[in-house]
Amino acid sequence: MTQVPALSYSSYHTYFECPLRWKFLYLDKLAEKPHGYFTFGRVVHSVLETLVRPLVVPSARRIGSAESQRTLDEWHPSTAAPVGTPWASSEELLRLYEEAWSSDGYTSAEEEARYRALGRELLMRYYEHLVREPPRPVSVEEHLEARWDGIPIHGYVDRIDRTASGGLDIVDYKTSRDLSKEDAKDSDQLSLYQVLVESNYTEPVERLTLYHLRSNTPLRARPRARGTLDRLHDRLGMVSDGIRAEAFEPNPGRQCSRCDFQSICPEFRPVPAPDEPRLQQLVDRFETLRAEERRLESDLKLTAESLHRAAEELGIHRVPGTRSVAVRRREETWQYSLDAVRPLLESSGLGARLTSGSQDEVRAIVRDRSIDPELRRRVAELGARRVKWYWELNESDRPD
Ligand code: SF4
Repeated sequence: MTQVPALSYSSYHTYFECPLRWKFLYLDKLAEKPHGYFTFGRVVHSVLETLVRPLVVPSARRIGSAESQRTLDEWHPSTAAPVGTPWASSEELLRLYEEAWSSDGYTSAEEEARYRALGRELLMRYYEHLVREPPRPVSVEEHLEARWDGIPIHGYVDRIDRTASGGLDIVDYKTSRDLSKEDAKDSDQLSLYQVLVESNYTEPVERLTLYHLRSNTPLRARPRARGTLDRLHDRLGMVSDGIRAEAFEPNPGRQCSRCDFQSICPEFRPVPAPDEPRLQQLVDRFETLRAEERRLESDLKLTAESLHRAAEELGIHRVPGTRSVAVRRREETWQYSLDAVRPLLESSGLGARLTSGSQDEVRAIVRDRSIDPELRRRVAELGARRVKWYWELNESDRPD
């Protein structure tokens, strides 16, 4: 059994994509190669953190802390810069950016130069937006932890802002290429952050925002409804159970193209040269048998159908061969239209009897003598009988 560490969004997402990759990263702690786009995202995030941190008024009421909430008047009005808040100048911002720059992971000098110029452009545009509409941050890059119905979770939240009505807006910066409003609505990352913030702050979460830096656009969504959070909790539970049970099977897919562990992954490991001829033979034989199996299956079906037609024409159920006797058997099922059964049961106050909505469940209701016979008859009349014929082989010619 493996002890399950607190799950962050990226840990959960990694396991969901490929459990073996999760093991390499989080259990074996193997290092990944640096990638330019990750380095770029990290640098931009760190500059934004430095830029916005002076604006933070860390006064939201915290769960479990004695700190009391300050009044909204302590924040600047939303249209003006915060009084006394030292905004970095645009020159200082660019200096911060150049100081934070890292060349790790770029595949060429051209690629690095392209990203470097893009970063300058994104930051300058975002800076103008920030100065025009200064945020009212409660925290930046805050590490939050929680235990969500038995599952430990954690995460670094880029920014939490105070909304005009005194609630909280969770902001996550994105440097990725394309993002839409749907991404903000569907993002599991924002859902997890909502749970983390709700577990640590008493103020309500009023908004979730992915800030798309390339288009300088806030993609906003309302806080998640309980049902959405419950479904995420179920998925986190599956991940947590999988880790505990050491279920670390590879799950090949699109993610393999950006996985650094192909050389140690069984999905990509080549067959050792000495074993190649023997294994090649086995694969060829397997392929031949598979084809034979398919041919036999189709032959078996056609023969059974011919026997069935003959039995129908002759009105017989037992057909002797030279070694055994083919006996025709019947399997009977009843199919009910749930769209018709459900309202009937509901109008009789028995709607709760239909939980799974399976055909067996309806059949059990039809047979249940504790239910009004008239109702059972009406349900029964909604059923259609289906008969499936099949053949068995008997050694004896006597009917059993
Ligand atoms: S190469 Fe693909 S299957 Fe193998 S560990 Fe990486 S992501 Fe998983």
